Amino acid sequence: MLLVKVFTDPNGFIVVHVRNLLEIEGVSAELRNEYAAGATGELAYVDVWPELWVEDWLQDRASALIKAMNSDKLAGVWCCCTCREENEPAFDFCWKCGEDRSDW
Ligand SMILES: [Zn+2]
Repeated sequence: MLLVKVFTDPNGFIVVHVRNLLEIEGVSAELRNEYAAGATGELAYVDVWPELWVEDWLQDRASALIKAMNSDKLAGVWCCCTCREENEPAFDFCWKCGEDRSDW
């Protein structure tokens, strides 16, 4: 099965978020380089971005969904610097550990 890359971002939490939203819409995406950031240090975080890949026949649908997300649901998603949990834009404090969103 041919896979094509449809999304990448230096923020792994956004990439995971996009994958989750795609799967809600019935588009199964493969996450690559998921652990590159944490496993190999900060340089790798810049050099190797997490990527989402889908089967080629899903590419158009995935791209349309991602485009809609970028202007809507992704705006303001932030990750907690303390526990690295992803948070929705509406939250001023991490839902998991209570840290405020200082660095975002
Ligand atoms: Zn937290």
